[in-house]
Amino acid sequence: MSGEIEKLQELVDQYDNFVFFGGAGVSTESGIPDFRSQDGLYHQKYDYPPETILSHTFFMKRPEEFYKFYRDKMLCDTAKPNAAHQKLAELEQAGKLKAVITQNIDNLHQMAGSKKVLELHGSVYRNYCMKCGRFYDFAHMKASTGVPRCECGGIIKPDVVLYEEGLDNQTINEAVKAISEAQVLIIGGTSLAVYPAAGLIDYFRGEHLVVINKSPTPRDRYADLLIQEPIGQVFAQIQC
Ligand SMILES: [Zn+2]
Repeated sequence: MSGEIEKLQELVDQYDNFVFFGGAGVSTESGIPDFRSQDGLYHQKYDYPPETILSHTFFMKRPEEFYKFYRDKMLCDTAKPNAAHQKLAELEQAGKLKAVITQNIDNLHQMAGSKKVLELHGSVYRNYCMKCGRFYDFAHMKASTGVPRCECGGIIKPDVVLYEEGLDNQTINEAVKAISEAQVLIIGGTSLAVYPAAGLIDYFRGEHLVVINKSPTPRDRYADLLIQEPIGQVFAQIQC
């Protein structure tokens, strides 16, 4: 165990009000690719960059194309929670972790057993008819073809925050509250490049800021504990 991980263990032993703020890096060890860090593959197969396809305008104008990409790249049902998801669920059960705030839409924290998960960017596990509001689950979307439609004829839209769309107010308020009340904030698996989500970190007033990320982030210099290792490998060594 490295010195940094020993320090994280000491914090876990000492404090009981943690909040975790995570991003794509938490899921890459589960086999879910970060579409922002993808290169050639996408450009060979799709005529537009992922940021364009996953925008509100594109969804409304070219739903067929959107769903081709979405089904191919976003509806992954083979990924399993990794050690980071599992340890965070254990920390919550032990009464130490108050909330997981995630930019991921893959449901892996819930699969690991976490109860308080604030999904800033929504979830591929929830989908609604744009006309009547009827709910459709993941399996329905996975099995659908073309542009999925409700029985009423309306187009079904994933409850995922697309580019150009705002975040859900209630989720933001709950995230701000959790972060502002936390003693220890662990930022993990995110390069903190995506706003407004990354701006939520500014509400932290607690005692220790921990950053666990393989590559540098803009908050590294404010962290009193910086661990530049894969997050699953880090959490695998922590005891609740
Ligand atoms: Zn409908």
